Amino acid sequence: MAWRICAVFLTLALGLAVHPASAQQSAPQRAITQIAGDLYRFQNNFHFSVFLVTEEGVIASDPINAEAARWLNDEVQRRFGQPIRYVVYSHDHADHIAGGEVFAEAGATIIAHERAKAAILGEGRPTAVPDITFTDRMSLNLGGKTVELVHVGPNHSDNMIVMHFPAERVVFAVDFISVKRLPFRTLSDAYFPQWMDAIARVEEIDFDILAPGHGDMGTKADAADHRRYLETLYDQVLAAARAGKSVEEMKAEITLDAYSGWQQYEAWRGENIEGMAAHIALHRRGN
Ligand SMILES: [Zn+2]
Repeated sequence: MAWRICAVFLTLALGLAVHPASAQQSAPQRAITQIAGDLYRFQNNFHFSVFLVTEEGVIASDPINAEAARWLNDEVQRRFGQPIRYVVYSHDHADHIAGGEVFAEAGATIIAHERAKAAILGEGRPTAVPDITFTDRMSLNLGGKTVELVHVGPNHSDNMIVMHFPAERVVFAVDFISVKRLPFRTLSDAYFPQWMDAIARVEEIDFDILAPGHGDMGTKADAADHRRYLETLYDQVLAAARAGKSVEEMKAEITLDAYSGWQQYEAWRGENIEGMAAHIALHRRGN
């Protein structure tokens, strides 16, 4: 399962291969922006996480990598004067959760899905092993504030946790929902059709603002749009497979025109079809 590395990490690696000098010389793009109330979004290049400031400390999410985590730890202390008490890993993929040891060594308690802990240990992910795990849901309370941690079923991973901030009306969801942007390349480490069910469960949560792990912020309507994109892709690839079409024919005929304005449409449409065709072929074998 060593191939279970994430998406944008590969994009960055390819980018570095193409433009080694410019990529290595440019400093990482990091930023902290307010989402709502005491909830903030943390950017490290193409990866995003969130954190909630309370009077008794901070609840943070994906560390992204050790250098980014050190930067965030220092910035949170400097700007808010509070230590990071909890860190919640979204899922086990290294490009989001590397560097957790920075927070653990500073005294934070690490939380993840039970299967994420197994994958972190099994795959030797470069991060701190979770202190607390759960399977379905968990409420985290600190300084009079609450965060609901919810496992919405298998999607881009089988150990994904969604963070719901009820007072701020925000959901943080990583790698399985994005805003007007195609899912990453060939949909590796994915579960179909459960992925669409998982988004439908997110839509049942009472929230307004969607903060994804990559790309632009959005709303609950963007989550529904992403689910419909995947449903359309699934239905059209399944129909083509049943009609005996080859993957090359599918890529020529399944144009997904309604999504031509989305980010990565040109780059990833063909690979999305290829990946979905592979998933569907597995199901159709009936094993
Ligand atoms: Zn991932």
